[in-house]
Amino acid sequence: MLPFLRSDLSELVAYSSEGHESHAAEFDKLDTNEFPLDLPEALKEKLAFLSAQQIQSNRYPDASYVGLRQEIARYVSESADAVVTPEQISVGNGSDELIRSILIATCLNHAGSILVAEPTFSMYAILARSLGIPVVSVPRHENFEIDIAAAQSALAQHPEIRVVFLVHPNSPTGNALTEAELTWAKALPPEILVVVDEAYYEFSGQTTVAELSRSNWMILRTFSKAFRLAAHRLGYAIAQPELALALEKIRLPYNLPSVSQAAACLALTHRKELLAEVKSLRQEREQLYQVLLTHSDLRVWPSAANFLFIKTLGSRSAAELHQGLQQQGTLVRQTCGGLRITVGTAEENQRTLARLRQVL
Ligand SMILES: *Cc1c(COP(=O)(O)O)cnc(C)c1O
Repeated sequence: MLPFLRSDLSELVAYSSEGHESHAAEFDKLDTNEFPLDLPEALKEKLAFLSAQQIQSNRYPDASYVGLRQEIARYVSESADAVVTPEQISVGNGSDELIRSILIATCLNHAGSILVAEPTFSMYAILARSLGIPVVSVPRHENFEIDIAAAQSALAQHPEIRVVFLVHPNSPTGNALTEAELTWAKALPPEILVVVDEAYYEFSGQTTVAELSRSNWMILRTFSKAFRLAAHRLGYAIAQPELALALEKIRLPYNLPSVSQAAACLALTHRKELLAEVKSLRQEREQLYQVLLTHSDLRVWPSAANFLFIKTLGSRSAAELHQGLQQQGTLVRQTCGGLRITVGTAEENQRTLARLRQVL
């Protein structure tokens, strides 16, 4: 270990080496929950045109992102029948950057710790640890609802908890927050920030935008999933202006490349066309779910997102399934004692089922 590095860094693993497979084109890539379709050709051409004609590559991007924040505010308002203003939006280089900014703004310098309910999205804990921020973890029930009694006692035991990370619907398990979970979250005291990660909002149709009147409520969204812009790295946070401004203070200047901004504005302009595809993806998810239900060797949970979580009940382990699928050309994510399978195109899903049958 290099002598000038923080000693706790030796316990961390770089994200790229954390079990992520190759991008090889011959694989069905069902391991990172992207949308299975690229942007339509016409939009890609438009973006290339904008990039060539309107973006000066020697100039820094627009540092305040006024136009993009306006468009995002309009989309959020429209989707939730609410009034959200551009001052309530902060943009990030993926929502991963926003998660880090939240941690810096709340917990850094021994100012606090975070609460997560496992299994959940791994980045909250990974980013917290990279900043030396303690992570308090509580379990979920059999149906992956948060064990609220355990969460309450963790909060009592750890008065230093400053942020609770919720995912709606959760990854890798696909369940949306229930009324009971939401009631609990809304009752958390104003000293605790509630972050609701709605990365899969477009698939679930469920949002907590109505709760944004609370000073301790923040929603994260991303363009990486239903909007098909994972390559462009764009996420956004929605909160009361004072809280959004706190994230703006932490944000690196020019964190969003000009082309990414243009891509997001273009996707928002064409959102009707892009999001129309979500309906058939949901149908694909239901078909995949129904077939998986019939496998006596598998347990599958209902999902409000664009992926399904399964566990094996038979003699085959999750690792064997993962490997068997990979050998046949399908990449899925092995995590939390099971497999998370992204819903792909109809052809990909048929192959997933056939290949699963092979391994089982
Ligand atoms: C995919 C995903 C994100 C999106 O991350 P980006 O950095 O915006 O690509 C955020 N939260 C959850 C739970 C996710 O699954």
